Amino acid sequence: MTEQEMSSKEKVLFGKATNPSNIMPKKLTLDSKIKFRCHPGVRCFTACCGGIKIILTPYDILMLKKRLKLPAHEFINQYTVPVYLEKTDMPGVAIKLREDDNKCPFVTPEGCTVYTDRPSACRYYPVGMADFHEGGADSTKENEQITEDKFFFIVKEDHCKGFEEDKEWTVREWREDQGVDVRDEMNKEWLRLVMRRKSFGMQATLSDQAKRMFFMASTDLSHFRTFIFESSFLDTYELDQETIDKIREDDVELMHFSFKYLAATLFGAQVMRIKDAKVQAKVQQIKDRQDESVLESVRDYEAVKSARDLEEGVKGK
Ligand code: SF4
Ligand code: SF4
Repeated sequence: MTEQEMSSKEKVLFGKATNPSNIMPKKLTLDSKIKFRCHPGVRCFTACCGGIKIILTPYDILMLKKRLKLPAHEFINQYTVPVYLEKTDMPGVAIKLREDDNKCPFVTPEGCTVYTDRPSACRYYPVGMADFHEGGADSTKENEQITEDKFFFIVKEDHCKGFEEDKEWTVREWREDQGVDVRDEMNKEWLRLVMRRKSFGMQATLSDQAKRMFFMASTDLSHFRTFIFESSFLDTYELDQETIDKIREDDVELMHFSFKYLAATLFGAQVMRIKDAKVQAKVQQIKDRQDESVLESVRDYEAVKSARDLEEGVKGK
């Protein structure tokens, strides 16, 4: 595979590479071997933690704000800048780099101060992953079997000396070591929403309200929880008690639920059921409106008819 054959859609998603031309044009599998090691002894230690855009996924935000013991909105205000995701109109956030040295606010000469909770993008480097179904398959349909079609590739930044180290791993071992599989699982549905939007191009516009909802659900789960429990949400959607209890208490459950809700509201995925009573009320409302329109038409017709009768009566005289 040449680099040209790898379309931009398949290049590093939310990765830490600064230059897409550093992608090695070789497809790897989970069993492929790579030679790489990053540790405090390398000459370039922390060189990759500056001058870079690190997009945060909802799970990244959840982990970092917990680590820093901050409410989500404070974390967002203090540590992030707004961005559009993957050249779409979907709003997200990236880490705000320090003004004085253009580096990540979490980096010190000794390394990353949030290492065990570092964002997904920091874990992927130098092994990128392409998933051909990220935008295409309708993964939001319930019970739909999704055939994954993934491969991996190396991203080799010029300044990175990790490739000169002797340690050899399989891609699978490297990903396990970096905790990437867990992140993939946590980010998967959210990433699909973004890639789905990307595959639509800009033909279909997303309303400001939809964008606000996407941003709120993706960045601030406390607000999203308030929206669920303090609006007419529970009167509108069918939710079983077990789900209600889980999303009331558990942030990760709430996050997965928010992806489902976004898939339903942004893309019309049939994954949430509106209560029958609500549907009937809506149908009745439409019917009432139609009845009113019919009555109005009849009134209009009668008015025109009596005006004509009057006119003809006058002419007949
Ligand atoms: S979060 Fe940690 S690993 Fe990621 S860029 Fe910042 S300092 Fe580096
Ligand atoms: S070896 Fe590569 S990944 Fe590790 S600090 Fe250096 S540039 Fe960053």
